[in-house]
Amino acid sequence: MHQRNRKIEGVILRKTNYGEADLILTILTKEDGRLDCIAKGARRFKSRFSGRLGLFNQVQLELFEGRSLHAVNEAELIDVTTNWDGDLEGSSVAFLLAEITQKLLQPDQIIPGVYPLLMATIALLAENREPENILYAYFIQLFGLLGFMPSWQHCVLCDEKLNLDRSVHLDADSLSLHCRSCDSSGTPLQTSLIKAIHFIQSYPLPESLKLDLEDERDALWSWLTRVLADLLNQPIRSLAFVEQLRSV
Ligand SMILES: [Zn+2]
Repeated sequence: MHQRNRKIEGVILRKTNYGEADLILTILTKEDGRLDCIAKGARRFKSRFSGRLGLFNQVQLELFEGRSLHAVNEAELIDVTTNWDGDLEGSSVAFLLAEITQKLLQPDQIIPGVYPLLMATIALLAENREPENILYAYFIQLFGLLGFMPSWQHCVLCDEKLNLDRSVHLDADSLSLHCRSCDSSGTPLQTSLIKAIHFIQSYPLPESLKLDLEDERDALWSWLTRVLADLLNQPIRSLAFVEQLRSV
């Protein structure tokens, strides 16, 4: 098999210890989507990668393309995107973003827009402005990029034009909107919640953060956790921590 070196730019989403001294890295790359690679000897005291492979670091990596896992030859630090000394809320939100992004994207799956969205979000988090709102904006926009968000115009079942000023039903599994005559089961989502989600999806960061979410926070949180549970169908480790901070 033809093997070659290749340079990528990306941000480190996950680090897993492997063997005695290696690290498996999950990178969200600028151009090639999610990519997993191995940094051999990275956990040694005098590693050539020392200090560069921190979580959320923006890096340029030279990879040797192996048969299964790419190996990191060289790592250059582009930017340390985070500086949350003592910012518990910002850092726990960042961990949640990294964990979910890494779980939602398949290896080598390329979705344009995810990398700039994540970088913009991390930069906003580092400014320490309302991490919870940034969290909602990120996920709603990510779901949009992944094609998960509903059509806001029509009921997916009968194609009737939807009036977002009246209550509509949001099906959490498919994230699709139903009109009242098609779906009278359960509790319809509050109009204000639907409108908040729609607003956030309609504007890029940071414009989407201009909405005052004070009254919608609890509804957004339960909506988001339900959607994530349905999408991932596996435990989300960093969710409990953010949940704890919310209730303080
Ligand atoms: Zn309908």
